[in-house]
Amino acid sequence: MSRSISRDDLAARFGSPLYVYDLDRVAAAHDDLMAALPDGVTRYFSLKANPHPEIGRTLRERGARAEISSAGELDAAFAAGFDAAEILYTGPGKTHDELAVALDAGVRTFSVESPSDLRHVGAAATVRGVVADCLLRINSVESGGTTSIRMTGAPSQFGIDSETLPALMPELSTVPGTRLAGVHLFSLSNAKDEDSLIAEFRHTAATAARLRKETGMPIGLLDLGGGFAAPYLAHGERTVYSGLRAALEEVLDEHFPGWRDGEPRVAVESGRYLVGDCGELVCTVVNVKESRGRRFVILDAGINVLGGMSGLGRLLPITVEVDTDPGEPGEPMEPATLAGPLCTPGDILGRNVDVPRLRPGDVVTIPNAGAYGMTASLVMFLGRPAPAEVVVHGGEVVSISRVEFHRKYE
Ligand SMILES: *Cc1c(COP(=O)(O)O)cnc(C)c1O
Repeated sequence: MSRSISRDDLAARFGSPLYVYDLDRVAAAHDDLMAALPDGVTRYFSLKANPHPEIGRTLRERGARAEISSAGELDAAFAAGFDAAEILYTGPGKTHDELAVALDAGVRTFSVESPSDLRHVGAAATVRGVVADCLLRINSVESGGTTSIRMTGAPSQFGIDSETLPALMPELSTVPGTRLAGVHLFSLSNAKDEDSLIAEFRHTAATAARLRKETGMPIGLLDLGGGFAAPYLAHGERTVYSGLRAALEEVLDEHFPGWRDGEPRVAVESGRYLVGDCGELVCTVVNVKESRGRRFVILDAGINVLGGMSGLGRLLPITVEVDTDPGEPGEPMEPATLAGPLCTPGDILGRNVDVPRLRPGDVVTIPNAGAYGMTASLVMFLGRPAPAEVVVHGGEVVSISRVEFHRKYE
């Protein structure tokens, strides 16, 4: 992150806590991902990682498309400038109203997660006199790599069980209002290393090829999913995948010899890799206290603005690291519990985090918070205002906004 704009200054101008996103970083991540993929592979940006329109716009300008799964994300995608034709609509619970909104807006590509989901899409399309291109999302019986978040192989709300596909195919291929456009296999998030990522893609491509052979299903679009990793709320660099391109070319040549001519068109999806390292959360020390021999640093940012789902124990607990302005030379680091301001014991951002001697008013920065920061937060919880989101480009502040909630009676 460019440090040319002081975080103290930004906090003074726009209030604390606040998110800062650097579009130069978004562009760099996109270009690294593109270079790591064979030519012609479509990149879908998963807006759930960060739906900020400036971020989406930056990715779109570089050729990425949008993967969304709600009417809110549809709005965000349009605000970013995406065309309806560049949008892939996914998710296990597409409601009647959402399908209506998406189809009326011109979205025509959907990933479907069950035969009934496919029929719902088809019914909504038929009413409108259009045909929806549907990718069958597959829940593969076995899987390739190892990861922290796995979504297939077990019973799941995601995808159609691969072993049931042969029997289902006659039914799936004749749903009015739909055309089977391909497959979607998203089985991995945040791969632990490049080898696991390659192993997963190898497995995914092989599964798709096998299913095509067994069922005769058409695969015009082969969406291989993702798993591209990024550091989260801690120091560290995004991996630059140097062996992926060649490995993927080999796998595709083996299973889908026509892919270089766009048969099938190949796509991947990414949220965290594209935007994780563009952002940081700038916050301020409110108080410091001791309790039974432990030091607590109380920040003005807690699970209300960062990683809220983790804070409530729904996913992996978060542990942040922080950057501070250098203190006195040689000043010792000491472990502290970093707590947020909320009235729940769950509002802990990190335990035993090494920090210098912090004082109330000190500004600290949590790195790599561009993905699943604001978007995975609990801004309604305890009624604090949402943080400002400040976008930086070429070292200049180019946009300042703040999400607002208000109760509307009807
Ligand atoms: C969340 C999600 C992604 C993005 O995952 P990352 O780990 O952020 O890259 C991609 N595809 C689908 C279908 C998702 O649900």
